[in-house]
Amino acid sequence: MLMPVLLANAEVRDEYLIAGMRMLREGAHAGDVAEYVARLVEDDPEEHTVGYGGYPNVLGEVELDASFMDGTTLQAGAVAALKGFRHPISVAREVMRRLPHVLLVGEGAARFAREIGAEPREMLSPEARRAWQEHVGMLRDAPDTIALTWQAWRHARGHDTMNVIARDMHGNLCTAVSTSGVAWKYPGRVGDSPLIGAGNYCDSRYGAATCMGLGEAAMRLAAAAQAVTLLRLGWSLVAAGVEVTRQLAQLLGRSRAEHPMRVADWVRVLIMDAQGNVGGFATRDDLCYKVITAETATPLTQRVMCVSVG
Ligand code: ASP
Repeated sequence: MLMPVLLANAEVRDEYLIAGMRMLREGAHAGDVAEYVARLVEDDPEEHTVGYGGYPNVLGEVELDASFMDGTTLQAGAVAALKGFRHPISVAREVMRRLPHVLLVGEGAARFAREIGAEPREMLSPEARRAWQEHVGMLRDAPDTIALTWQAWRHARGHDTMNVIARDMHGNLCTAVSTSGVAWKYPGRVGDSPLIGAGNYCDSRYGAATCMGLGEAAMRLAAAAQAVTLLRLGWSLVAAGVEVTRQLAQLLGRSRAEHPMRVADWVRVLIMDAQGNVGGFATRDDLCYKVITAETATPLTQRVMCVSVG
């Protein structure tokens, strides 16, 4: 039997990870645990960047992105810009199970969620509505939604994404990523989180990687797939994490020059290799991640390795 390990962004509550590790110790499959932890985070109203309570788009509508990948079968499922369902991560996993597709978006994703009997829910919490009203609702002079989005981004709140990577006692790796995306985004904007290869990639033979932060950067570099590819080519976990994050930092430097982007300009990458070693890397130094193994009673919070360029 191999050592179960659970890796997540530091914003995931300890109790969720402890519950997930209990399941792994009892022999649960990595996929069931990754989905279980993700569902707990999606229900958490205090988590303003995932599921219920997530910050809405610039029009005040919550649009959710999620993806699931099974590193042993390389099967994956994802939804993007899904409105009105309680657990995007479970809808994403069902896309993998029930359709010959990987990604459904918008109306099609909602149709599928209805057909499989996924639980509908109003995902805009009163608090998220108030935040939207305070930061975006008062912007009345924008001529169109493009201008409104740029104005709103100057007021953007912090953003984040739930990343969970689970390894079970048989060495299966699975990943779950779920987010409301960047706050006050243009309607229909899709980030890296539901894009397999960009914000989520998992191969039990080599490792798994997930991203959070500015999805536009992770997308342009296929960051998660790159990290796992480097592991496949024999790079160490640290070398792979540093290389991908260095590229992200360079790209972010360029995009700051391209756009007057005042917010959302960092990326954090979490990596687990096939042996269950973990690492976190980011383009800023004040971010953390959590890891719990079958041998630790509570999750350990670790600071990311910061990789910046100039
Ligand atoms: N990566 C997410 C996105 O771009 C948001 C975040 O993690 O901050 O949609």
